[in-house]
Amino acid sequence: MKIINAPEEMQKQAQLLRQSGEDIGFVPTMGFLHEGHLSLIRIARENSDVVVVSIFVNPTQFGPNEDLSAYPRDFERDEKLCRDAGADILFYPTPENMYLNDHSIWLSEDALSCVLCGASRPGHFRGVCTVVAKLLNIVLPDIMVLGEKDAQQLRVLRRMVRDMNFPVRIVSGPTVREADGLALSSRNKYLTPAERKEAACLFRALEKAKALFAAGERDAFRLKSAMLAVIEKTSGKVDYIELVDDETLQPVQTLEKPALAALAVKFSKARLIDNAGLW
Ligand code: AMP
Repeated sequence: MKIINAPEEMQKQAQLLRQSGEDIGFVPTMGFLHEGHLSLIRIARENSDVVVVSIFVNPTQFGPNEDLSAYPRDFERDEKLCRDAGADILFYPTPENMYLNDHSIWLSEDALSCVLCGASRPGHFRGVCTVVAKLLNIVLPDIMVLGEKDAQQLRVLRRMVRDMNFPVRIVSGPTVREADGLALSSRNKYLTPAERKEAACLFRALEKAKALFAAGERDAFRLKSAMLAVIEKTSGKVDYIELVDDETLQPVQTLEKPALAALAVKFSKARLIDNAGLW
């Protein structure tokens, strides 16, 4: 596995690979890898000739009071995990070579980004779209593999690729969970042992909504109340609990079309998100 730091060198490599007819599969990450990331690397491995993983804690998607400096990092461990999972190239740029001092071009999405995490984290998806657009121009992948764990991000990036004509196909991978249902996340590291026990409440709330939906419940208010009741039994503070249209991400009152149950819950240091499709 080759490690590349400079965007220019990565782009040159990608051009050479494409010229020789190799299909590039790309998995963008912020590092501190876990089995969720590795499952995406394996999907890329199965669907392309050359697998590129990027590790970049993108400063522009963090708000001023968010956890940019505290975000967990362990490059040596990540490098080994990437190698073992079958990555061919690890792209590991610095913030300085991704964003010049006078960087002044931004890409934002104006519909899907306005709700859920976009409403709680102003500017977040502008940072995500901008960095992923840059990464696509640097890595030149045929496919990009993203996790369904970040359902809104997946939809925003699909829209970006569609609306900006990026020549890449997005493939998604299912959420990988701990035995008790907690979705794997680099931010789970922030949980205290007591909070870790409680944190499966997001999954339990989603399971509750799925069970009620399966039993015929279609009223969003009642479904949300049932989810809230699960979270309220813990020390977690609800950031949002929403039932949204699966395509537009607009809140729904009655579930008539495929919907997404999505929630964000704050523990002392960790803000956790999760989602489930209701259809
Ligand atoms: P991150 O490093 O958190 O920015 O995530 C990088 C990629 O991994 C994104 O496409 C995420 O959606 C995906 N991902 C994060 N957690 C999981 C998980 N538990 N299962 C599957 N994919 C995940």
